[in-house]
Amino acid sequence: METPSVLIDSARRAELKNNPRAEFTRAIQQKDLAACLLKTAEIHGHFCPGSALGVMASVWGLSRLCLDSSLSDGLEELMAIVEINACFADGVQAVSGCTLGNNALVYRDLGKHAVTFTVRGSDTGVRVRVRPDFQSQISRAVPEFYPLLEKVIIKRGGGPEAAAAFKATARKAAFALIELPFEHLLISQLTTPQLPDYAPIAASLICPVCGEQVMASKVVSEGEAKGLCYACAKQQTWQVEGRGIVIQ
Ligand SMILES: [Zn+2]
Ligand SMILES: [Zn+2]
Repeated sequence: METPSVLIDSARRAELKNNPRAEFTRAIQQKDLAACLLKTAEIHGHFCPGSALGVMASVWGLSRLCLDSSLSDGLEELMAIVEINACFADGVQAVSGCTLGNNALVYRDLGKHAVTFTVRGSDTGVRVRVRPDFQSQISRAVPEFYPLLEKVIIKRGGGPEAAAAFKATARKAAFALIELPFEHLLISQLTTPQLPDYAPIAASLICPVCGEQVMASKVVSEGEAKGLCYACAKQQTWQVEGRGIVIQ
């Protein structure tokens, strides 16, 4: 017998076991942006304009291609190329189902609020970007947002009360943005996307120094440290972090 879940009744659990994105897909098809934003915040942790814009860009982009995220079962059919590693990217990952872990997300380190969607084998994609004047739209919808952002996030001041006020204001801004027409905040263009190949299925090796399993493509290939993992070989590697893709 299955262990009862405190969160999910058995009928819903059965549906989600069959299609984990069933509920999310319905929300996307119905353009229920509030439901999409709530789902996004489950992974993003808070409500903010950036993640709301990622949600909107994804719902609009997928609908322009007559796709929905049911194509994204983590097998790299639907692909997203996201150009920023900020809140926006979590709206993209949540709505499209294209994530770092399933290799359907390509991170292109351009620092732009933009995402391109396409399906493998198709030469058509859509790139959706945020309008350069989106901040004035946010200011118009929620005038207190940028002053509080400056005080709490940029100057790191104001104490817990200001922090709570900022959180509430960011939530208000996020839910205000999703009420606006897509065209007020976003621009979409059909494109021919450049996709990398499918993620390679690499064999695994055991590093002789640390004893840990490592992808065969991620060990030193020649010289004294041949066969060692990069960590044991003290070799420089790249990492995605707040600054983008940088050498570690
Ligand atoms: Zn955020
Ligand atoms: Zn090692």
